[in-house]
Amino acid sequence: MAASVDGLAGKLAALERDDLRRTRRVLDSPQGPRVRLDGRELVNFSSNDYLGLANDPGLARAVHRSLDEFGTGSGASPLVSGHLRAHEDAERRFAAFCGLPRALLFGSGYAANIGILTVLGGPEAEIFGDRLNHACLHDGARLSRSVYTRYAHVDIAALGRALEASKAVVRIVATDAVFSMDGDVAPLPEMLALCERHDAWLVVDDAHGIGVLGACGRGSLEHFGLASPRMVYMATLGKALGGYGAFVGGAPDTIEWLLQRARTYVFSTALPPLLAAAACAALDRVERDPALVARLRSRIGEFRAACAGLGVPVLPSDTAIQPIILGEAARALEVSARLLERGFLVPAIRPPTVPQGTSRLRVSLSAGHERDDVERLARALAQSLG
Ligand SMILES: *Cc1c(COP(=O)(O)O)cnc(C)c1O
Repeated sequence: MAASVDGLAGKLAALERDDLRRTRRVLDSPQGPRVRLDGRELVNFSSNDYLGLANDPGLARAVHRSLDEFGTGSGASPLVSGHLRAHEDAERRFAAFCGLPRALLFGSGYAANIGILTVLGGPEAEIFGDRLNHACLHDGARLSRSVYTRYAHVDIAALGRALEASKAVVRIVATDAVFSMDGDVAPLPEMLALCERHDAWLVVDDAHGIGVLGACGRGSLEHFGLASPRMVYMATLGKALGGYGAFVGGAPDTIEWLLQRARTYVFSTALPPLLAAAACAALDRVERDPALVARLRSRIGEFRAACAGLGVPVLPSDTAIQPIILGEAARALEVSARLLERGFLVPAIRPPTVPQGTSRLRVSLSAGHERDDVERLARALAQSLG
């Protein structure tokens, strides 16, 4: 993977040839159920803004108030002087929302996962990761210098055998709660039982579960009714919660140890206070307005029913992520382009984000969509796949 000065042009050309070169689209509108792209309005099925909060007036008002009170920058690491009242309030608010003893606010989900795994892991530890885990759990495991064992996707029997065989002093199981490119949910109760039997930590990444799963949208722990001091729970603020940043929740000592030692916490400037305010406003909104999560659930049901009726082969998924596997990267790009012509923004997801030969369309649904939007998309999919 290394690139020399002279080798770079050839590497870029190879990406182009293999249909793997990425380009960015410039949106001329806020994120939302409809976006403006190249002068056209498109129905947007490409974002993780699952509750339509990324451009919510209530969140924006909370951010304006925080901006007036606390300004733009936090100015320092949280351990020096960057931990402002807004951050303290947001941590308490998040812990209460998720029913966890204590929480810590990180700069991003990526930074949080790197922090968790490098602090808990090390040369005497073994980390067990699902093959389809998010890149930052993978990178955290590598960076921690732990023995790193990957098991087949949601293969609990394989995980049990690997834990049984482990000679490590410290064992850590790390998993996405909702898999980001497949939309399926990890069997967390069975995984926690295995972790109890084999004295392992369970690190849960709920980036796509917070605000989506659970009767009140509190995430995968509410969905399964789980609580345990051996669990370390991470949820991001940049997806359903409409802002940016991440929380880690867990037992008081776990959080205190992360605060003392996680390098991505200690050596990084605290999040701007206005983002902590946005987080509080989002959690308040999810609590006060159960109709929001209910709307997302309705859209998921309506989209799946429409696809079933039209023979659109969407993967089994009860979450906002609804993938359609197409195989080769070129095919995924072609179908995505046809949908764009019809006015729908649906991204083609290609390697290395997904394994070779499983390029796909990743439809993301939102509480901001109308029933008509998702049913029209299902019809456009049926036509574009032909
Ligand atoms: C998006 C994502 C992250 C990274 O979170 P950021 O706050 O965007 O850095 C981590 N894990 C999963 C599963 C994700 O989808």
